[in-house]
Amino acid sequence: MSRVMIIGAGGVGRVVTYKCAQNPAVFSEILLASRTLSKCDQIVADVRRDTGHRKLTTARVDAENVPELVALIRSFDPVLVIHVALPYQDLTIMEACLETGTHYLDTANYEPKEEAKFEYHWQWAYRERFREQGIMALLGCGFDPGVTGVFTAHAAKHHFDEIHYLDIVDCNGGDHGKAFATNFNPEINIREITQKGKYFEDGRWIETEPHAVSKVLTYPNIGERKSYLIYHEELESLVKHFPTIRRARFWMTFGEEYLTHLRVIQNIGMARIDPVMYQGVEIVPLQFLKEVLPDPGELGAQYIGETSIGCRISGLRDGSSKTYYIWNNCSHQAAYEETGTQGVSYTTGVPAMVGARLMLEQKWLKAGVFNVEELDPDPFLKLLADSGLSWHEETGLNLEL
Ligand code: NDP
Repeated sequence: MSRVMIIGAGGVGRVVTYKCAQNPAVFSEILLASRTLSKCDQIVADVRRDTGHRKLTTARVDAENVPELVALIRSFDPVLVIHVALPYQDLTIMEACLETGTHYLDTANYEPKEEAKFEYHWQWAYRERFREQGIMALLGCGFDPGVTGVFTAHAAKHHFDEIHYLDIVDCNGGDHGKAFATNFNPEINIREITQKGKYFEDGRWIETEPHAVSKVLTYPNIGERKSYLIYHEELESLVKHFPTIRRARFWMTFGEEYLTHLRVIQNIGMARIDPVMYQGVEIVPLQFLKEVLPDPGELGAQYIGETSIGCRISGLRDGSSKTYYIWNNCSHQAAYEETGTQGVSYTTGVPAMVGARLMLEQKWLKAGVFNVEELDPDPFLKLLADSGLSWHEETGLNLEL
């Protein structure tokens, strides 16, 4: 029986609130807090109606304001804060957790607003302070990062003596019927995918121009899709925690239409993250664009098709080379029917609840700052499948990479 506070009332926050409320024996009291109170109230009304959970409350909070966070945490007194607002707030929420002695979990690593940089060092720097306080911070517990790290840990534990090549493959085979929309927060998403590509090989990082490297890959139940090499944050922690890895890459599918829109957005300056003056007011073009793009949390009703995300791995087992693929497919429609939002929010929110539950049940609880692959993958993967995200594995196949 534990009290948890969820911060962020977007698509992912909606799913986390649903999934926690479906487990009242573990998550006995839930507070959903975000910048806009009405969004929290709407989610909580839906969750209360669909799950019957009785102890759900809401609050307004600015998660960039440490004293405000500390006051709210002290008044509700949760065991754990699940942070599914934006990556800009990781450090302020971690500070508030340290000040109040509260465990912390997030799904995306810290990013400074003024520079799109995806690096763990800011959060890893908190290791000693969390350890000394006797509390835990679990980083990147969504799908990617998150399940992809647990998949890799499962492969290392049960299938390989040495992992040599790791390719994380992320396909959204769904169709939402819009000309252009992002599947999670547009500002964070566009910052991520307009970056240069980057991958790890033989001990060093190699940069590529954005979307310059692509391959056609075959995804289970979806078929062939053009997949682009991009940088993704879990590569940094995975090559550190599995030092036998010789090469680690991340591939994501994009349609031609999506890439054309993205190119235009960049060419006309709407992807800029530096402030510009507009009629005497400072605005950030990308933040303005976010306001006029479809809300990812509301794409669900028309969304058809599936996501398919997994790890394609090769390496050594008992002296012989071996290939291995582990993946999950998630239906946008099934996610919508259960939680009122689409598959990308669902595949992020379910693992966040699973990680939180394992922390509260003391199966994953340790003092310090951890990435998911540092913990035992077995209880996580069991609970993941029981919570709506089944996974599949196959050995001895052509990985196409
Ligand atoms: P949304 O933009 O839909 O939701 C973000 C929420 O955070 C909004 O409700 C917003 O409030 C709130 N928020 C923003 N700033 C503040 C603030 N200063 N104080 C309090 N609340 C704030 O995003 P998503 O739900 O799509 O994504 C949530 C997180 O999940 C992001 O960090 C994203 O990077 C991560 N993610 C991780 C994935 C993974 O697999 N690991 C995949 C997809 C997403 P308001 O609406 O009032 O502005």
